[in-house]
Amino acid sequence: MQRRNLSLGGGLALRAMTGYEEEFLEAHLAESNTVALCNELVARCLVPPGQDHAGAMETVLSWSPAKRDEALVELRRLSLGETVCCEVSCVKCTVVNEVTFDLSTLPPVPGESAESVDCELDDGRRASLRPINAADQAALVSRVFATTAERSTWLLSRTLRTVGSDVGPFSEDQVRAMPVAVRNSLSRELANSTAKLDLTMGVCCHDCGHEFSAPFDIVSFFLPSLGGDW
Ligand SMILES: [Zn+2]
Repeated sequence: MQRRNLSLGGGLALRAMTGYEEEFLEAHLAESNTVALCNELVARCLVPPGQDHAGAMETVLSWSPAKRDEALVELRRLSLGETVCCEVSCVKCTVVNEVTFDLSTLPPVPGESAESVDCELDDGRRASLRPINAADQAALVSRVFATTAERSTWLLSRTLRTVGSDVGPFSEDQVRAMPVAVRNSLSRELANSTAKLDLTMGVCCHDCGHEFSAPFDIVSFFLPSLGGDW
């Protein structure tokens, strides 16, 4: 079997989940921000069971979303093996399908994100942004934006470092006051620089034959015992 060696840097190493994390996950399953939950789960498994994980949490929040996802997959491997079994409802006919997925078939992880996203704007000025990290991703899930433009304003004010000779941080009002063409260029560069790990599986409905992709479900991914018959 081909296994990728996960290098986390900084002398960090993941350990398998213990009862501490099992209890933590089950107690927080009702929370809608699964990104925040995943960040914390990885941080907890970077320190010995039950120990303070505040420092590890800081580290995980600074990682790219792809690196955090890669750590999640590795954590699943270490804790429960490569095979994920779950139930997925068909998006067309709603029949429940039993799906078995082998983590070793996941596509290769994109390279590590750059330290900085640099681009040239239409008016010739140069701009730089901080790449999106796991903290941004969790914050994006927890916030409700009325429009995509508001979402862009918020995200750009968090990540924009320099525009021409102007040095950040930039307030939301400053970002809001930028020309649409500049905002679009910056948002596009930011999106293009964000490496993503595809955590979905292909499903072919056994009843109607419809093919669709479904995201991994965190319960069946990390707490398969909860999926059994009681
Ligand atoms: Zn179906």
